[in-house]
Amino acid sequence: MPHVTPLKLEELVSDGIWTLPRYDADVTPCPIDLSDNTNLWGAPPGVLQELREVPASTLARYPSLYSAPLHASALRYLGIESTPELGLLTGCGSDDVIDTVMRAFGRPGDKVAFSSPTFGMIPIFAELNCLTPVAVPLTAQFDIDAMRLVDVGAKITYVCAPNNPTGTAVSRSALEYILSRARGIVLLDEAYAEFAPETFIDLLMNFERLIVARTFSKAFGLAGLRVGLGIGHVRVCALLERVRGPYRVTSVAERAVLAALAPVTDGLTWVREHAALAVHNRNRFSEELRAMGFDPLPSVANFVLVPASNAQAIARTLIAAGIRVRAFVGLPLEIPCFRESGGAALRIGVGPWPMMQAVLDNITRPAACA
Ligand code: PMP
Repeated sequence: MPHVTPLKLEELVSDGIWTLPRYDADVTPCPIDLSDNTNLWGAPPGVLQELREVPASTLARYPSLYSAPLHASALRYLGIESTPELGLLTGCGSDDVIDTVMRAFGRPGDKVAFSSPTFGMIPIFAELNCLTPVAVPLTAQFDIDAMRLVDVGAKITYVCAPNNPTGTAVSRSALEYILSRARGIVLLDEAYAEFAPETFIDLLMNFERLIVARTFSKAFGLAGLRVGLGIGHVRVCALLERVRGPYRVTSVAERAVLAALAPVTDGLTWVREHAALAVHNRNRFSEELRAMGFDPLPSVANFVLVPASNAQAIARTLIAAGIRVRAFVGLPLEIPCFRESGGAALRIGVGPWPMMQAVLDNITRPAACA
């Protein structure tokens, strides 16, 4: 038998994979965890009731192939049930929808354009799919820089509205500029749409190359169940479903989402009421921070980004008080507020007021005012 020298593990993996960072958020239990923008009031009571009643057969059998039982309710919730041109696909979280879009449309070496800062998984998903991430800083007013994004000439342009981690809004005019000029797919991530004054789902009517991602992890309080949606033209959704593959959403999650979408007090009404509470508390919390000398960014999401040169030190102080927020460093210095803070900021999720008061009671004043 000819001698074959086996390849080393490093040689076996695809280009760029060996050095890929693992997404590693701090997940040690903490009494008040405001670090991941989830629903801090919990999950809709109707979902909890539904889960208590799951029969053994739901667990013993495979779920539906492509979550067909969810489609009608989700389309109704999105207000597009009578638009036959539009459809949707589900995913294991919206992460899965984003990954599927990249896998479906990106050929190795294609560019993925996105704003900086934005959702941290975007460059990782791009690399995982052998695509080239290209970051374009937000403008000084925190809008997407539509002209520069289009100039990248990317196969996929990712826009996050409201944007994570800034919490800021994207202007309709900038988005329309991209949609009418981009040469490829535009992936609009509306993970925080329930907290914002407007959604851009209506733009799907005019642009076949637009795909909107939504999630049940934020306003719906179901992050642990991992369900996301991709909404687009039926032709696009049919293609994406094939790329996504079957059985991505569990039968338990499917039942839970149906209960959350039911237009009743302990389902959708609960979700809407708690999203409104988050908006109210966000505005009140931002005001209180301003009164203390901080300068939080104008948020339309369920979290607030606060530039602070001593962000990491503040985060450590808060952890000692049993409160976890997310400290960012290395934010783009092209954006004036981050230039002033040396690229550092705190992202603080918004929940019931006692949690926000605990932050206010323990947060130290900005370095310049100390
Ligand atoms: N998009 C954005 C902007 C997010 O912030 C997150 C989660 N933090 C996701 C997508 C992924 O959410 P999930 O996979 O839970 O739906």
